[in-house]
Amino acid sequence: MSNIPVDDPVDRRNAPFVQVLLLFLGVFIPLNKSLFLYAVLSGRWTRVVPDATALAADLATDVLMTSAAWTGVWLIRRGRFRQGVHLFLGVVMLSMAIIYITTGMAGVGFDPMPMILLALAGLILGRRTLWITLATLLGVIAATLVADLVRAALGGGAVSVTGLGKAVSLAGIWLLIAIALDRTVAALRNSLEESNARGQALALAYERLQEEVRERERTRDQLVHAQKMEAVGRLASGVAHDFNNVLGIILSYAAQRERLADRGAPALYEALGDVDLAARRALTISRKLLSFSRQEVARPEVFDAAASLRELMPMLKQLFGARVRLQLECADGALPVRMDIDRFGLVIINIAANARDAITDTGTFHIQAGRLDGAWVCLDLTDDGKGMPEDVRTQAFEPFFTTKPSGMGTGLGLSVVRDMLLEAGGKIDLVGPPAQGTTVRILLPLAVDGETAQLAST
Ligand code: ADP
Repeated sequence: MSNIPVDDPVDRRNAPFVQVLLLFLGVFIPLNKSLFLYAVLSGRWTRVVPDATALAADLATDVLMTSAAWTGVWLIRRGRFRQGVHLFLGVVMLSMAIIYITTGMAGVGFDPMPMILLALAGLILGRRTLWITLATLLGVIAATLVADLVRAALGGGAVSVTGLGKAVSLAGIWLLIAIALDRTVAALRNSLEESNARGQALALAYERLQEEVRERERTRDQLVHAQKMEAVGRLASGVAHDFNNVLGIILSYAAQRERLADRGAPALYEALGDVDLAARRALTISRKLLSFSRQEVARPEVFDAAASLRELMPMLKQLFGARVRLQLECADGALPVRMDIDRFGLVIINIAANARDAITDTGTFHIQAGRLDGAWVCLDLTDDGKGMPEDVRTQAFEPFFTTKPSGMGTGLGLSVVRDMLLEAGGKIDLVGPPAQGTTVRILLPLAVDGETAQLAST
């Protein structure tokens, strides 16, 4: 009975009660009339035989009201709640008008129906319908009085004072009931609106609170990240500093090779030359590390990413050795980006070093560079190594996250790479299916036209 497809929540709550009421009337009215007819026709209960016209009107209106009650239930069950109640109200008022006009005001007995109608209209359909119902009921009384006047005029008699008195007192009672109902409904609606407004304010406050909590979580994450980065910075600068000292010593030893040249040990002389070269390269790297960990500001410049990649190829070849094939595929034309060019190199080398570690035997490292959506320079760096399972993927950019044995990985590569790219307005992501090699995608904003022109002129 409560499972009715009605949209309005208040109507949905009222629907079961209204159905019970209509079902009751749909059964009670015909039952009541059958008992009455049985009493009259058997002559056992009363000897007063009602007037034929009044009886016909009475029967007709009972049939009308019973049908309206059942039709009302049918409409409500199909989700047309308000139509069902309106139909019932309309038909009952029409029936009342027929009965009142045919019996005359003096003949009207105690009738609870107008009270039921006012209650239904006010409590179920609202204040507007309540006042319309009262106006219609008063109209029925007025029409009955007019009919009484006409009948009195035709019969040469006078209008009964009892009828007039009844009309006035009925109108007064109905008016009082309507006022009481109107006040009750208004108070109910007001408190409903207030509680709705309070509910909405609460929902809004809850939403704001949620947003604040999210904001705090974001800030906490950023703080944790910043703290980790600071720790990394301190560690790196310490290591780089010590390295610098050791490298300085190596260089000074290597510088003494000149003395060997005279003593006829050319192989040793040459080897020490290579030591000198390698130590100088290491010094450059450790200085870079030092400058990075000291949080020195990056020196962004516009350069062609494709050209820079070509320049990095010999170094990458050294990194991979003979077992990994290196491929570079660049789109036609320049790929201008704005970034610290040394950092760009570090980004590529870090990713390549991870690819080398992921390729256990032989394999390929492929770099594809081009433009994306007219706004980005896109670099896809793909290896066919062991790939990353889902849990590694989600943590790969975390500082200190590593799956490599101790002494092999620091877990800082991707985290530092990401920070450098973010600072340059870029992004980094892992694309493609897990466990089938790895593709790291880097997006850097395509440098604007003015900067491209600057690039062309340099
Ligand atoms: P590290 O290399 O020192 O471990 P990174 O931050 O560079 O630190 O990488 C974090 C982890 O991500 C690595 O330990 C590895 O498990 C995974 N990873 C990174 N790159 C690759 C790759 N190309 N293939 C498979 N796993 C990778």
